[in-house]
Amino acid sequence: MWAQQWHDRLNDVIPYSDAPLLDLTLALQVQKYTVNDMYKTAEEFFTSINLYAMTPKFWARSLFIKPPDRDVVCHAAAFNMQYHDDYRAKICTIINDDYFYTIHHEMGHIEYYMSYNNQPFYYQDGANPGFHEAIGDTIGMYASKFSIERVFSFLPINILVSPSHSIKLGFIDEETITEHYEINYLMRMALQKVAFLPFAYVMDKYRFALFRGQINVNNELNAKWWEMRITYGGIMPPIERHDPKNFDAGAKYHIPANAPYARYFIADILQFQFYRALCRLQGHTKRLHMCDIYGNKYVGQKFKEMLAMGSSKSWSETLEILTGEDHLEPEAMLDYFAPLYKWLKMENLARGYPVGWE
Ligand SMILES: [Zn+2]
Repeated sequence: MWAQQWHDRLNDVIPYSDAPLLDLTLALQVQKYTVNDMYKTAEEFFTSINLYAMTPKFWARSLFIKPPDRDVVCHAAAFNMQYHDDYRAKICTIINDDYFYTIHHEMGHIEYYMSYNNQPFYYQDGANPGFHEAIGDTIGMYASKFSIERVFSFLPINILVSPSHSIKLGFIDEETITEHYEINYLMRMALQKVAFLPFAYVMDKYRFALFRGQINVNNELNAKWWEMRITYGGIMPPIERHDPKNFDAGAKYHIPANAPYARYFIADILQFQFYRALCRLQGHTKRLHMCDIYGNKYVGQKFKEMLAMGSSKSWSETLEILTGEDHLEPEAMLDYFAPLYKWLKMENLARGYPVGWE
């Protein structure tokens, strides 16, 4: 409801309707995945690249489903209890693609906790908060693309061929994925990852302005929020809003919880640097969206070595060890989306669509 990511609207803007994306939610349902299966599948990706398995206490003490008998804060989170392999997740899991991704995100935090556990206490932390948010997302980018193709490859084909589309989903592999499918996939990823940037940026820009006294809390608390949303993201409310009656920013968990948000903006860029570096370690440098590190223990070990450093070195030094880059480098994101960017420029030119918004 915050329009923070737009991939749920993919079907409204899908580049090629003749190559619909594999539907992970559907695959999970057809395969009769349980909540537990989703966590085991996520864990299996991490262990396949030599990262840690979740601990017995993780399985015993985490909250995986919304309890029926009491209210809980369902906002997903991962916890380091700092004691005897006690790491936990709290996710009110629903069996769908978004939660499959969230599981990877939260497990990424726990992988980081476990990796820097041998550092002195003071250094048992992320190289910066953006690193912490980026780990699980990086793995989730591989997993959400390739797990789905693995899951689908086990399905009987007659379940999968929808009447209107003849694409034989059960046999999809790198050779048969069409260019149309790839552009559709990149569009889906862009709606998730690129559309998020202006949202994440505004979250803290708005609060910084507020705390600096640049926003009159009596008559522009809500209006300033929407002013920034439209300036940076081209998003406006669907109905009229009024100060001081409405406070829409407060509907986002991190605002009342006073949780910083710049870390997610940083992580959104950083995860493409991690992703590209892991692909390069595997020798994969072109068509980055098609790189799959599943099962590559060498690549995973390099990732793990960076995670194990915790905050013992500056984040730029830590980053350089894995990526060769000592700064935040948005070019990695452009690199990943290059085929889509080229396609969009040609489409917009051909159709005379204006770029941007008033
Ligand atoms: Zn997180």
